Amino acid sequence: MESLGEFELISRYFQRAAPNQGAQAVLGIGDDCALIDAQSGMQIAISIDMLVEGRHFFAGADPYKLGHKSLAVNLSDLAAMGSQPKAFTLALALPKADAHWLERFSAGMFALADRHGCELIGGDTTAGPLNLCITVFGELPAGQGLRRDRARAGGDIWISGSLGDARLALDLALRKTEHAAIDVSDGLRGDLGHILERSCVGSTLDADALPRSPFLLARDRDTQLACALAGGDDHELCFTAPTHSRSEIEAIAERVGIALTRVGRIEEAPGLRIVDAAGQALPFAHRGFDHFKTA
Ligand code: ADP
Ligand code: MG
Repeated sequence: MESLGEFELISRYFQRAAPNQGAQAVLGIGDDCALIDAQSGMQIAISIDMLVEGRHFFAGADPYKLGHKSLAVNLSDLAAMGSQPKAFTLALALPKADAHWLERFSAGMFALADRHGCELIGGDTTAGPLNLCITVFGELPAGQGLRRDRARAGGDIWISGSLGDARLALDLALRKTEHAAIDVSDGLRGDLGHILERSCVGSTLDADALPRSPFLLARDRDTQLACALAGGDDHELCFTAPTHSRSEIEAIAERVGIALTRVGRIEEAPGLRIVDAAGQALPFAHRGFDHFKTA
């Protein structure tokens, strides 16, 4: 950090005079620790995600979008737990202190932070290969976390939004630039697999029911299913619920204006079965992504 000193960089791009409304920390950037209030009857949810250049995003990626994404992947984890965002910290390794890059990066990050009332309360800044690591803190009523080990046989499987666009865009980008491979995170098949494993149940997914965008629907069926089932980086939620909650869930979807689609059911028999609309089994080789098990 030659031209722009570390502390100047922090105060110029990350310390804000008036942080967003709603989630004001007792003590934010500038001391050895940040302090946040713990409300009685509430639990703190904590999650961390690291984005590494060349691994999670292309070198030269738009800094505004990168700022958005580095926080978005973390907010997605809070949402999956059913918790309200409150604050986050940012650990940043930068090859150089590039004012334009920092300005765009922080703008993208704060635009999303403000939308969710989530305040930047601290971090760490160092020179090094570009690496963005955010830890988020959320809040939820004690005992009401949406855990992976609570799926019950007989229940429905639901998906928010649509799946597969991130993977489709990645494939197109890779073909265009012939870039070295980068990864995407899990994908429905992998994520649902985690739920099944932790809950000691199995499931059948209706591949034809998977919600897909018009972009993806314009592709051949194999591409659609591969992207929707094993693409990853969708940051949509997959959850399970008893069948008697169907109308309640549909009413919530309507109220909040988010598409929620029922895509399968939880069963006692272990394993993940994928069938078409007619109930015929589809052999499906695409697995969710695992960083240490690349094909
Ligand atoms: P320490 O010596 O305890 O590591 P630093 O000198 O690294 O503290 O940081 C000074 C203050 O600036 C701390 O409150 C820290 O949380 C905050 N900070 C450092 N980097 C960032 C960043 N990228 N974003 C937000 N706050 C940061
Ligand atoms: Mg430090």
